[in-house]
Amino acid sequence: MIDVQQTVRPLLIGGAWRTTEAMIEARSPVTGALLELVSSGGAAEIDAAVRAAQAAYPAWRDLGERGRMRMMHQLHDVLAARMDDLTALIHRETGKPPVEALSSDVLVALETLAHHARHGTAELAPERIKPTQRTLLGHRVQVVYEPVGVVGVIGPWNVPLGIGLTQIASALIVGNTVVFKPSEFTSLIGLALAEACVAAGFPPGVLNVITGGGAAGAALAAHPGTRRIMFTGSVATGRKVAVECARRLCPCVLELGGVGAAIVRADADPEVAARGVVFARFVNNGQICAAAERVYVNQQIARPFIEAVVRETLKLRSGGDGDDYDVGPLINAPSVERMEQQVADAQAAGATVRAGGTRPQLNDARREGHYFAPTVLTNVTPDMAIMREETFGPLLPIMEVADDDEALQHANSLPLGLGTTIWTRDVDAGAALGRKIETGMVWINDSTVYYSDPGIPWGGVKESGIGRSHGRWGLQAVADLKVVARSRHSARLWWFPYASYKHRLIKLAISLQHRPGWRAKLRALAEALLVR
Ligand code: NAD
Repeated sequence: MIDVQQTVRPLLIGGAWRTTEAMIEARSPVTGALLELVSSGGAAEIDAAVRAAQAAYPAWRDLGERGRMRMMHQLHDVLAARMDDLTALIHRETGKPPVEALSSDVLVALETLAHHARHGTAELAPERIKPTQRTLLGHRVQVVYEPVGVVGVIGPWNVPLGIGLTQIASALIVGNTVVFKPSEFTSLIGLALAEACVAAGFPPGVLNVITGGGAAGAALAAHPGTRRIMFTGSVATGRKVAVECARRLCPCVLELGGVGAAIVRADADPEVAARGVVFARFVNNGQICAAAERVYVNQQIARPFIEAVVRETLKLRSGGDGDDYDVGPLINAPSVERMEQQVADAQAAGATVRAGGTRPQLNDARREGHYFAPTVLTNVTPDMAIMREETFGPLLPIMEVADDDEALQHANSLPLGLGTTIWTRDVDAGAALGRKIETGMVWINDSTVYYSDPGIPWGGVKESGIGRSHGRWGLQAVADLKVVARSRHSARLWWFPYASYKHRLIKLAISLQHRPGWRAKLRALAEALLVR
């Protein structure tokens, strides 16, 4: 039951906090308990937020790079001072262990802001292009980047501060203003970010935060006032966002799902590879887009590898309180049902459950939480849904393969391609294998940790997404590329009025450059000279 007296947390539009009639119940995935009520914005709030962002844009753009770097620095310091509160909030709203809240969210946010505070948009420095077309020699041509206006950022719940902040900060440092729609499952974290921006002294309207559900996201994606959409979420929703953007030809960055392959080569140390794969699969309880979702292990080391994976998985401590646990709950009840269904389907098709496979029996406050035991499955086949569809939870299917070629063939068999891990003692051979995989990122002997480096591009190929975040690629995504060409102030041959001597001269120039063979060139020269 909702206590109607409970205050409803407001959302942020143009520097003003506003409540809405519609509400979101922020609930703990650990206990199912109501944490807080949050305003749920819709199309009207999105429209007001986009207008506020448009109004704030000229001054933010004209503040200049130095001014925006200073603001990034101030936001960095506010978040750093609030590190413990943020960690506790992320832990409370997602159930992830505090150490993961720190390492996957707070660390990413601070590294990103420190990077922008230090380097601004140095990665987008103007670039000189040397003309190759001969008539343009002597012209000075530059590529420069400009802010675009209002950027809409739609976030997921699995790394709510880290991902949200990465997208927002890259849009802001370039000189854009932002409307951010956090996931409805992590609204409180979205609001904590809004509060931090206010405390850091951001001018009203530069960042607007509209907590709300899918309808708010859809309204933002469709709003004609936004010039870019940065979306992180599922493939299904990403497709809808892409359609909305296509309607009005608005570029979008889509960071979508994956069914990441882990390839364990014959030369890998089975113990090390097992520990690496167990982390790559069960970090954030399997709720990581680029997690190792399907393992292809060389049959030569399959037995010791699988034994080690089962042993390491059974060691994982499930929890929801304090620091001493490895995996928390899933984000909501439907996620648990999805795990049950996938395991049941795999078992019906012949898979063997070697660890987990069920909801754990809990007799404490976690009874109403969304728990599912870390699960290892063997005897899986490539056609099973568990090997083809994103699980986004703690299920680890392992399949034996004869060699690298077979692993490669399976790895490339899906329409998705986000992150792939390769486990091997020969890192160069691993990298060579990785070059053949249709994936946005390939990691040899490690996994998703690269997200925390602000300079290393992140994103997928095929249906795993369009565009990249991080580094110059992330900045380019929220900037308009412009060509600035300078030439001396003098009349050009090709200007009006046209005349036959111009025709002959241009034809001669083209012939000398493009006609094959010196005879043809000489003939062209003679033709030009002999004309009276
Ligand atoms: P989701 O697609 O359900 O929701 C993502 C966001 O979209 C939420 O804010 C949601 O409210 C909003 N939304 C819902 N319907 C919408 C619509 N019609 N138009 C616009 N926005 C809408 O995804 P999720 O459950 O929050 O996140 C999990 C998914 O995200 C997984 O598939 C995961 O792989 C993916 N993900 C990808 C990356 C990456 O970097 N590639 C990172 C994190 C998560």
